[in-house]
Amino acid sequence: MSRCYNFSPGPAALPEAVLRQASAELLDWGGSGMSVMEMSHRSAEFNGIAVEAEACLRRLLDLSADYAVLFMHGGATTQFSAVPLNLGFPAGQADYVNTGHWSSKAIAEAGRYLEVNVVATSVEENFSTIPPQKTWSLNDNAAYLHHTPNETIGGVEFFWVPEVEVPLVADMSSTLLSRPVDIHRFGVVYASAQKNIGPAGLTLVLVHRELLGRAAAATPSLLNWKITADHQSMFNTPPTYALYLTGLVLAWLEARGGLEAIEAVNRRKAEKLYRMIDDCDFYSNPVAEHCRSLMNIPFTLADDALDKIFLAQAREAGLLNLKGHRSVGGMRASLYNAISEQAVDVLIDFMRDFAASRG
Ligand SMILES: *Cc1c(COP(=O)(O)O)cnc(C)c1O
Repeated sequence: MSRCYNFSPGPAALPEAVLRQASAELLDWGGSGMSVMEMSHRSAEFNGIAVEAEACLRRLLDLSADYAVLFMHGGATTQFSAVPLNLGFPAGQADYVNTGHWSSKAIAEAGRYLEVNVVATSVEENFSTIPPQKTWSLNDNAAYLHHTPNETIGGVEFFWVPEVEVPLVADMSSTLLSRPVDIHRFGVVYASAQKNIGPAGLTLVLVHRELLGRAAAATPSLLNWKITADHQSMFNTPPTYALYLTGLVLAWLEARGGLEAIEAVNRRKAEKLYRMIDDCDFYSNPVAEHCRSLMNIPFTLADDALDKIFLAQAREAGLLNLKGHRSVGGMRASLYNAISEQAVDVLIDFMRDFAASRG
C-alpha cells in the first residue's frame, strides 16, 4: 500500500495517524466489543465520544459557554437555508457579501426565503479580490450579514473580520481550524467537515445562544438551531461515525499544539507555493495579494493545452487532485491541515521540473 499526496479541495486528505487509529479501532472500540458504527447514539460509549469531541473543539477555539456547538447534517449547503430560516425573521431582509462561487450559492438559496441585499461583489474582478468594507452598502433593516471568509474555489480569503451592528454569519467550511480566529466576533459560524475537520456527513454550527429561538415557524426541526441545541445535536440519529472521526482529527490537532502551531505550518506551506508561482513565468495565480487563501491555491499554466499532461504527470508522481474547479479551469492545490510541509515541497519540485521541461 502506498498513500499519495492528495491536494483535493474536499472531501480532502485526513491525517494518516487518524486513519490508522480508526483502522485499529474499527472492529472493537475501546473494549466495547463493537464498532462505533454499530453503537446506539444514546449509549454511554457514544455519548462520551460526542462530549469529548465538543470539549476538544471548545479548547481549540477557546470558545465560551455563550456559544452552542451543534453537530448537524446536510453540509454547508443546508445551512444556506438554515441561516435565513433561523435568523432572517421578522425582518425578512439580510445582507450578503458576494466574493465567489460559495457566496453566490448562499445568496441564491437565501433569496428563496427573504429579500437579499448584496452589499458588495467582486464579480467584475472575476472574484479575484475582496471589496474593502468602506465600499459596502449595508442595509439598516438587515437581520444579519453573511459572508464567506474563504472561497474554496476562487482562493480568496478574508484576513479581517467585518465590523457590523447586526449578527455576523460566516461560512467557514474551508478555513475553520486552519488558524486561530475569534469566534466571539461572530453570531454564527458554520462549516462542512470534509475540508479541514473530518469526513463528509457532518456539519459544525457554532451559534451565540442569544440568537437561538428566533426561527420562522415553518423551519424544519432538523434545521432549527434551538431544537438541535436543546437535544445536544441528537434530535434524530447524528452521523455517528463522522462525528467520531472528527473527534480524532480534533485530538490530533490539539496534540500538534493547536491552532497557533498549525497556522505557522500553514503559512509556511502557502508562502512557499505562492513564491514559487510568482517567481516562475510558467505559472500564475490571479488573486490579489492581500487576500490570497492559505488553504486553496488556484494557478494556471502558461499554455492551457498542457493542463492534461501536467495532471497526468503529477498523478504519476503521486500528486493527486490538482485539477481546478470546472467553473474556473486550471489547477488548484488545497493545503489543509493534513497536508504536510513535505508534501508541498514535493509539489513545488514537481512544478519546477515540469516548467523547466516545457517552458
Ligand atoms: C465545500 C463548501 C461548501 C459546500 O459544502 P457541502 O458539504 O457540499 O454542502 C460550502 N461553502 C464552502 C465555503 C465550501 O468550501
